[in-house]
Amino acid sequence: MSDTVKFLLPEREIPKSWYNIAADLPEPLPPVLHPGTKQPIGPDDLAVIFPRAVIEQEMSQEREIEIPTPVRDVYRQWRPSPLFRARRLEQALGTPAKIYYKYEGVSPAGSHKANSAIAQAFYNKQEGVRRIATETGAGQWGSSLALAGALFDIDIEVYMVKVSFQQKPYRRAMMETFGARCIASPSDTTESGRAVLAEHPDSTGSLGIAISEAVEVAAKNDDTCYALGSVLNHVLLHQSVIGLEAMKQMEMAGDYPDMVIGCTGGGSNFAGLAFPFLGEQLRSGRKVECIAVEPSACPTLTKGRLAYDYGDTAHLTPLVKMFTLGSAFVPPGFHAGGLRYHGMAPQVSHLTNLGLIDPRSYNQLECFAAGIQFAKAEGIVPAPEANHAIRAAIHEAEKCRESGEAKTILFNLSGHGHFDMQAYTDYLGGKLKDLVYDESEVAMALAGLPSVG
Ligand SMILES: *Cc1c(COP(=O)(O)O)cnc(C)c1O
Repeated sequence: MSDTVKFLLPEREIPKSWYNIAADLPEPLPPVLHPGTKQPIGPDDLAVIFPRAVIEQEMSQEREIEIPTPVRDVYRQWRPSPLFRARRLEQALGTPAKIYYKYEGVSPAGSHKANSAIAQAFYNKQEGVRRIATETGAGQWGSSLALAGALFDIDIEVYMVKVSFQQKPYRRAMMETFGARCIASPSDTTESGRAVLAEHPDSTGSLGIAISEAVEVAAKNDDTCYALGSVLNHVLLHQSVIGLEAMKQMEMAGDYPDMVIGCTGGGSNFAGLAFPFLGEQLRSGRKVECIAVEPSACPTLTKGRLAYDYGDTAHLTPLVKMFTLGSAFVPPGFHAGGLRYHGMAPQVSHLTNLGLIDPRSYNQLECFAAGIQFAKAEGIVPAPEANHAIRAAIHEAEKCRESGEAKTILFNLSGHGHFDMQAYTDYLGGKLKDLVYDESEVAMALAGLPSVG
């Protein structure tokens, strides 16, 4: 058995600025449109639900945006996060490839999501916001924002997709421990929730519905803002600390990745790791292959359409151009709840369309098998979402075994799976199946895309 190889940075190496890929894009992103007028929106349109500082970041073209000291002070609790070389996994696979992973499960909420939650809570507090409404699928974003709310003294109200509310009582307990209020969505506390319940009393909910409820609460209350845990430019910006640290750690290792891999739900952990490397490629030509991995049962990048679409079911959000399966599509209930979203970050969509990101999809069972192989070799039980990145990394390492090439692979281990043990129990008990999405439902959802311009 070989020793653990870990690359740790001192605290002073926590990045002082986030990296904004908007500054390096070969073509700018298409504009965000108002859901009513279908005209490009300005900062004032967003001020109803977001604090000013966040809106500025959403629209910024600056390459570097300073991380406020109070945010860095909280980051110090777990950042810089460790980067490991997966020596035992390499040996188990018999591959000449070198496999590295950045581990974001060391945050107090157990995933990368805290990187943006802390920043968003800080800006809201600074602008006098008393309460933040948000949604959560599997509960990782809700837990992260609940943590941030406790640290910055802001009330947090989380609309949690009903099926997860029932299946993941411990995520809910964690949010409530941090003082957040957790409401099963669809609920009877909002108009959008009541509209869904009137039509489907037994609805188990979806991220799209939960977003509608949270946005509605923020829009109707002056003291309340809304926060989103992925997809938007400012969230991807906050996550860039992952890749900025990883660049320094790869340098410590005397290596540079041939490929960078991340799983994609809304795109934030993938972008967080990949964008600083991709920016380097865009500026200096240093090649890196960026692989975005999604579930075959919710194949937004590989089977979706690049089009203007809403972020939610009730169509309260602005229209963004992204790869989408249609806002009416409800993905089947596979266990990587954080990857069950109909859309994809506009920046990730744009770069995929430009051929700078290579998307692929894998099925649930092969991802759990990969996650368990990883856990046995490396001693960390991954979140089901992260298993998708692991599956792709193992696939690439196996290709190296066949070709004899010693490529350097870097992937993001976005979180641990300690709240997902029911999923592992089901997998080990032979109860999980590969789920297929309903193609006619996607076709219908795509046919319902808004017509623009
Ligand atoms: C939420 C989540 C994801 C998916 O969201 P992205 O915005 O695509 O990163 C992936 N992994 C973990 C552990 C998550 O909590």
